[in-house]
Amino acid sequence: MSARVAVVGSSNLDLVVTASRLPRPGETVLGENFRTVPGGKGANQAVAAARAGAACDFVGAVGDDDFGTRMRASLVDAGVDVRGLRTAAGPSGVALIAVDRDAENFILVAPGANGTLTELDVDDQATIAAADVLLLQLEVPLTAVLQAAHWARADGTTVVLNAAPAAALPTALLDLVDVLVVNEHEAAVVAEVASDDPPVLLDALLKLVPRVVLTLGARGAAYADRHGLRLAVPAPQIDAVDTTAAGDAFTGALAVSWAERGASSEDTVTASLRWACAAGAACAQRHGASTALPDRPAIDALYDATYRGAP
Ligand code: ADP
Repeated sequence: MSARVAVVGSSNLDLVVTASRLPRPGETVLGENFRTVPGGKGANQAVAAARAGAACDFVGAVGDDDFGTRMRASLVDAGVDVRGLRTAAGPSGVALIAVDRDAENFILVAPGANGTLTELDVDDQATIAAADVLLLQLEVPLTAVLQAAHWARADGTTVVLNAAPAAALPTALLDLVDVLVVNEHEAAVVAEVASDDPPVLLDALLKLVPRVVLTLGARGAAYADRHGLRLAVPAPQIDAVDTTAAGDAFTGALAVSWAERGASSEDTVTASLRWACAAGAACAQRHGASTALPDRPAIDALYDATYRGAP
């Protein structure tokens, strides 16, 4: 039976215009290409988990507009179970993204329907109880995140929190987290320390949660837990063409591997971190965001090529 991952989080439609340069305030610049891409950290991580081989449920909200129809269809296409996806009156969440030739961007997000996900229901509770891992981010109201984490803890479902976008977190939530996944910037904000030194960040975060995964871009990932285990996992060496959504690929795959392998030994934790690094790197090898999230064979191939024979 495949692992079950439940995601409670955001879905946005990314409206992306490429241009020779970004406009200044009040200025109009003629752009080049326009595309719409399903996104939002919640939906991306749900798609990442489904492609990585989990049975994945997504709990979230889209608006009653064409964008909502499109996002629902793209989750279904990826094999995500959307019984927990509400359609709220009003607009879907959108991200207006402009990208220039140097890949510099600006991003303006209107949360729309995501903001209506303030409270979960008994069906969501059952979904969370049936999952091995609950995957959370911070792009929907904190009330829903807290409720989901609370139910997961009560039902023995492992809570993985990707603290993105970066925010200082209430103790009520930190106390319910089993595994925190953060990049260096998020780590510094959550730990409230001014450092970019991984050991310092890990030490500070272990005071808040029992297990921490720190993503380090092309340098891979670091791990620490309260049992005294510390790991540094190098990333696969690849030609990165676009690292957008690499973090979502990493986190979705980590949740799947954690659900499949558990965390009973150094070997299982090491394997999960390596598999997540393979997923992040496989995503970075392709252009695009949610469209670049790798499937299980692609993750396995890069994992085998990179780590086979490693101790
Ligand atoms: P975020 O996008 O959330 O800041 P990171 O940049 O740390 O996240 O990337 C997440 C993971 O994706 C990394 O831990 C790594 O495994 C993989 N990754 C990202 N960029 C690269 C790269 N250039 N080469 C290899 N792996 C990468």
